[in-house]
Amino acid sequence: MKAHTLETQSTITPAKALEFLKQGNERFVSNLKINRNLLQQANDTRENQWPFAVILSCIDSRTSAELIFDQGLGDIFSIRIAGNVVNTDIMGSLEFACKIAGSKLIVVLGHTNCGAIKGACDHVEMGNLTELLSKIQPAVYEERMTADISKRNSKNLEFVENVTSLNIKRSVKAIINRSYILEQMIEKGEIAIIGAKHNLETGSVEFLEDTWVSNKKAVKTQTS
Ligand SMILES: [Zn+2]
Repeated sequence: MKAHTLETQSTITPAKALEFLKQGNERFVSNLKINRNLLQQANDTRENQWPFAVILSCIDSRTSAELIFDQGLGDIFSIRIAGNVVNTDIMGSLEFACKIAGSKLIVVLGHTNCGAIKGACDHVEMGNLTELLSKIQPAVYEERMTADISKRNSKNLEFVENVTSLNIKRSVKAIINRSYILEQMIEKGEIAIIGAKHNLETGSVEFLEDTWVSNKKAVKTQTS
């Protein structure tokens, strides 16, 4: 398996990029790996890179994007921050990945049993973490399924998973709303964006198809 080149990257559509990730995750859960020579890939990409996707995921040690999607060097941009939240620096990184480096797909990847989400559910306050977790709070408040106030905390795993899904969806929307550059690229069909959730127990990634935004009409529906 060779590293991507400008030629291979330019033939990849957003839908094809999504397919690559789905196939990679299928290999991961089947304990199969594409045979790659990483040293060769390092050599092939020593001067430039043409990754087909950019993945915003959590720092959690069990959810490394390259591993769970079975990708090699030069295949994907990986942005990692606790709770896969969005800030200005992350927006800049996403714009670089798509507009400058040619990636075709943005994935916001959350995961089950996320410590950051649990912290937000429990309203933890500690040092700089307080500000980070405040970015997840809107998803906590948006959760309406759990009426019993005594069950709105990290001990209730169903509540945690609901907040996790809401947080993924909020990050997808925030990325479109906060970047004119990316919104334009989506409207033109040059890139697409989707949310996904990695199940730590099974290894499988569930793509949240209702978060897929790939053209003008979809942008309007998502942001309205
Ligand atoms: Zn996490």
